[in-house]
Amino acid sequence: MYEKMELKDGINGLTFEHRNSKSLAQAMLHALQNPEKMEKLGERGYIYSSNGEVPCVNEHVDEMLKLYDELTNTQSYIPNKTVQEPKPLTSLSAPWRITFDTNPDDCNFSCVMCEQHSEHSPHQKARKEQKIRRRRMDFEVMKKVVTEAAPLGLKEIIPSTMGEPLMYRDLKGRTFEDIIQLCHDQKIKLNLTTNGSFFSPHGHSVEQWAQALVPVLSDIKFSWNSATKCTQELVMKNSKFEKQLSNLKTFISIRDKIAIVTLQLTFMEINLSEIPDIVKLGISLGVDRIKGHHLWAHFTQIKDQNLRRSPDSIRRWNKIVQECQTIAQNQLLPNGKQIKLENVFELSEDSGTSSIHPESTCPFLGKEAWINHSGRFDPCCAPDQERLSLGSFGNITDPNQQLMNIWNGATYKNLVKNYSSYPLCQNCNMRKPPTQQHS
Ligand code: SF4
Ligand code: SF4
Repeated sequence: MYEKMELKDGINGLTFEHRNSKSLAQAMLHALQNPEKMEKLGERGYIYSSNGEVPCVNEHVDEMLKLYDELTNTQSYIPNKTVQEPKPLTSLSAPWRITFDTNPDDCNFSCVMCEQHSEHSPHQKARKEQKIRRRRMDFEVMKKVVTEAAPLGLKEIIPSTMGEPLMYRDLKGRTFEDIIQLCHDQKIKLNLTTNGSFFSPHGHSVEQWAQALVPVLSDIKFSWNSATKCTQELVMKNSKFEKQLSNLKTFISIRDKIAIVTLQLTFMEINLSEIPDIVKLGISLGVDRIKGHHLWAHFTQIKDQNLRRSPDSIRRWNKIVQECQTIAQNQLLPNGKQIKLENVFELSEDSGTSSIHPESTCPFLGKEAWINHSGRFDPCCAPDQERLSLGSFGNITDPNQQLMNIWNGATYKNLVKNYSSYPLCQNCNMRKPPTQQHS
């Protein structure tokens, strides 16, 4: 309480989390790296006076009496501190978009940051050692959910964002082509994230894939983590930069104008300096959007890749953001439009250990849903182990369970209402600050 009254972080000093040595170390590092700022903070010894000086006894007594009057007259007492918190979320009557974890164990790449397929990840190694089959969603699960939700407002589906979705094949031999047909049948769109290798068990060419996909696509995201062969192949192991580039160019030449083409990346130390060049590359190729997310550092080996880990890394990230925004404003796409930058926004220097912005909101709850390979309902795309801390909502394969029972059930509604008090949500990279909440 004393600390709250006399010291305010970033105004007249720096604070750290009680008994948290990491937080203390961060505050000390920040102090060492910002001598001028520290001098300014030191000048402002007392927070509640205009000149930073401690008031005289008389002024202090006056303030105390004023406070006493306010507290004894509850009608007139108005707290003078504005608490910043996210706006309550509004829920749609049904999810407008559903992501299906169709085949998370299939991928022909091994990206360094990938929760499943990175060389640092224990998951696929453990699966192989224990001779567990690859997880593949039964096509009937997808069909059941889509058939229920399409008449209620479902507009599009996203096949697995973990694993390469074009490699999907269920135990009964249904493949990605059946998913495309389901979209045609239910008049919904397909939002695809692919690693751009256009792998095909049937030997389809890129052109053939593009012709099959384009009529149902709303959006296609190519995983893309660099502007150079060297970094791209370092981050996306087993990829071939020239092949990815040629596939992207071929796809763009066939795409329908309706489908949005995005380059999607993970923001990390290793590719930070190349992000402006990725924006330039996207513009030159006619890509509509560059979208990224800060790293979920699943393994200790890549913790240093996290750009939110220190005030210094956040400052460097913020500079790159400004550079990217200038490029986007000054260099237009071949169609004359401006490339869209998503999640490319500046962070506050102390945002590494707290939420990105105190008023940032979850973009997914009440709007979108996730169904994992076994039919389990998930509320968002957080990494699997962490996501379990948000609760247990139900499974679509239960014959008595339907998507809308879960959507309207007490457990999910409670999460939508109270998510900002969940530890996982408090430090979630996905939350959007007020300036980004339209996208
Ligand atoms: S392409 Fe996607 S699924 Fe495959 S290794 Fe990379 S991040 Fe993981
Ligand atoms: S972890 Fe993030 S994305 Fe998931 S519900 Fe919480 S705020 Fe939303």
